[in-house]
Amino acid sequence: MVSSRRAFLRKAAGTAAALAASGLAAAGPERSWTPAYLQLEEEGRLAERVEQAFELFESCRVCPRECGVNRLQGERGICRSPEQVVVYSAHPHFGEELPLVGRFGSGTIFFSNCSLRCVFCQNWPIAHEGRGHEISDEQLAELMLEVQRIGCHNVNLVTPTHLVPHILNATRIAAQGGLRIPLVYNTGGYDSLEAIRLLDGVVDIYLPDLKFMDPHEAETYMGAADYPEIAKRAIAEMHRQVGELETDRQGVAVRGLMIRHLVMPNRVAGTREFVRWVADELSTSTYVNIMAQYRVEHRAFEYPDISRAITNQEFLEAMDWAEEAGLTNLDERSLMQRDVFRRRGG
Ligand code: SF4
Repeated sequence: MVSSRRAFLRKAAGTAAALAASGLAAAGPERSWTPAYLQLEEEGRLAERVEQAFELFESCRVCPRECGVNRLQGERGICRSPEQVVVYSAHPHFGEELPLVGRFGSGTIFFSNCSLRCVFCQNWPIAHEGRGHEISDEQLAELMLEVQRIGCHNVNLVTPTHLVPHILNATRIAAQGGLRIPLVYNTGGYDSLEAIRLLDGVVDIYLPDLKFMDPHEAETYMGAADYPEIAKRAIAEMHRQVGELETDRQGVAVRGLMIRHLVMPNRVAGTREFVRWVADELSTSTYVNIMAQYRVEHRAFEYPDISRAITNQEFLEAMDWAEEAGLTNLDERSLMQRDVFRRRGG
């Protein structure tokens, strides 16, 4: 249920107070660790990035759709994003990958709207209908600081692609206000190289999906035939910027690339090609989460190939392909899921 802006800020503060009272709010990366954005701000270069990013809004090319609308004047493109940021919710999340969750949760900020049009979207009321509340960049900075106060290990920016300029601005404001935990850029993978380069030295952890490897499938299910090419290029750039996943002494992520891939029915996601691409173009020790939780959502029931859940066998073959490709850093929960499916007998 959507709460008012004031209510969710109050709720976040309430959770912070409760965790602090329970003595759980003292976590975070080791003291010696410095987030990338802080270094950039100290070097006086973050302000310039903010300025460059907002220029992309004038004739919008923040994402690869390149709609050309003037976002600064409130014109809307394919993502339907208004002039300001729209946020659906902000809270500690314990369902993300274990290195992001740690003991105190990932400080998830769910943005509304999206430049992808996935027919199987599991968050369609938020991503397609734009449910949520408009907030200023100062309020977004306040949310970032709030999840830090709660004790979360990171600020997890969910569906951030269409909001890169606001995110850079809010990060700068929050850094000046004491933000010290890493930013997680949690994206569907449809990101322009220009936008990702603006995030170089700002984002510490990239968490992209790589959903499809075939242009025809990407066009059918997302309305973006260029998705595989764009996403692979963006992910290679992310890898160049942050490298492989690094964790602190508690096993909590502080920097690096983590890739998600959702196994879909009838092999439409191209899982075999995906794992081979990671092994060949990035490295076999890249953190990869092969996910089993596909469900028929939104308009997926209109498409025969994806109008059912995956079978145990489909997930097991995906994990086998990952091992055959030589991937050595598979997500712990996906390995546990594989064991469960094996016990049930494919
Ligand atoms: S961010 Fe939105 S308006 Fe801008 S190019 Fe992408 S879809 Fe179009």
